[in-house]
Amino acid sequence: MQATRRSFLKGLSAGALTLSVMGFDLKAVHAYATSLKIEGAKEIISVCPFCAVCCQIIAHVKDGKLVSTEGDPDFPVNEGALCAKGAALFGMYTHTEGRVLKPMYRAPFSDHWEEKDWDWTIDRIAHLVKEARDKDFKEKNEKGEVVNRLESLFWMGTSHASNEECCVINSAVKSLGMVCIDHQARV
Ligand code: SF4
Repeated sequence: MQATRRSFLKGLSAGALTLSVMGFDLKAVHAYATSLKIEGAKEIISVCPFCAVCCQIIAHVKDGKLVSTEGDPDFPVNEGALCAKGAALFGMYTHTEGRVLKPMYRAPFSDHWEEKDWDWTIDRIAHLVKEARDKDFKEKNEKGEVVNRLESLFWMGTSHASNEECCVINSAVKSLGMVCIDHQARV
């Protein structure tokens, strides 16, 4: 019979009970266990969103808040392991210190950044994309062949976009005719 994480933990509890019955003092063990940040937390099985490997993750939620994430040792694909992106999932979700959380804009020839709201930023990006597409979209190449492409814009994806977001973005930028598309997570 193959041991799973859950059967291993059950075995540990049974072992601790046996030791306690045998007269061993387990106060230190109990004190350590109750100091764990996942003590009393609910385990929720989830999936790392960052690539198609789809490693399984155990998310620990306590009082409605995420307190920890770890690879699921019982899942055959990743067997508890996570790459750097999956391992950083908890930090990505919780760590905001020093992170830029609002759009920052530096006007042409300016020497400083200004904070902008999302409406202004999305509107600005949309206008610039349309302007570039209207100016540079090519229906045909030099040989007269139909190409319908836009070569003056480049799209760079982020590893912190989920598979689903990447799929939507890929379709959206290709619908504009963009052919220069890459992804920072392509390691
Ligand atoms: S990004 Fe890493 S941890 Fe996440 S699914 Fe892919 S291989 Fe697994």
